[in-house]
Amino acid sequence: MKSVLIIAAHPDDEVLGCGGTIAKHIHNGDKVSIKFMTNGVAARPGIEDRDVEKRKQSALKALDVLGVEEENIVFGEFPDNSMDILPLIEVVKSIEKIVEEVNPEIIYTHFSNDLNIDHRISHQAVMTACRPQSSSPVKEIYCYEVLSSTEWNSYTCSKFNPNKFVSITQFWQKKSEALYAYHQEMRDFPHSRSFETVEALATLRGAIVGLQKAEAFQIERIIENEK
Ligand SMILES: [Zn+2]
Repeated sequence: MKSVLIIAAHPDDEVLGCGGTIAKHIHNGDKVSIKFMTNGVAARPGIEDRDVEKRKQSALKALDVLGVEEENIVFGEFPDNSMDILPLIEVVKSIEKIVEEVNPEIIYTHFSNDLNIDHRISHQAVMTACRPQSSSPVKEIYCYEVLSSTEWNSYTCSKFNPNKFVSITQFWQKKSEALYAYHQEMRDFPHSRSFETVEALATLRGAIVGLQKAEAFQIERIIENEK
């Protein structure tokens, strides 16, 4: 059994980026933990608490579909869409804390050049918290892609260039169902964060390597021990 940790800036990134892979890890008997950095709700006076609770309930429902235990889900409190106001060290410390608690061998997180600022900072903080020291339990780090952020980055930034493909054909149904729990975050096609585009991307990522449906990742690091 492997310990797997997903670091996501907002509740819904985990399903968009690696929902099928999460279901697959659970199916294989691995322990999957999720740490959300923000509550995903922009600060707006008055309706804040109700919206935060709604988003949390969507996350619990989505992750229940994928098979993640509620006790392995941590909701963060950093400000949505403004993690850049925080000293990076604060974000790093929150990731170091969860790494210490969960002892993950594998981490999935955001791509470094996503358009969304919270995604970028989460990536940076993961890389800092998981610097490869011999005491670190983390052996593998993969970046997932999130529609309406990864593909929207600047032309001047290096593009997401996947080099790991995970077949999720038999977990596609679960991913769709989990995504439906976040239907309020989804937009109408042809918005890239639409149900149609999520399926189209899974089909494209699969077809690139001769699979029906796949999730694609960019490998950040793999460390293989002697035994
Ligand atoms: Zn996000």
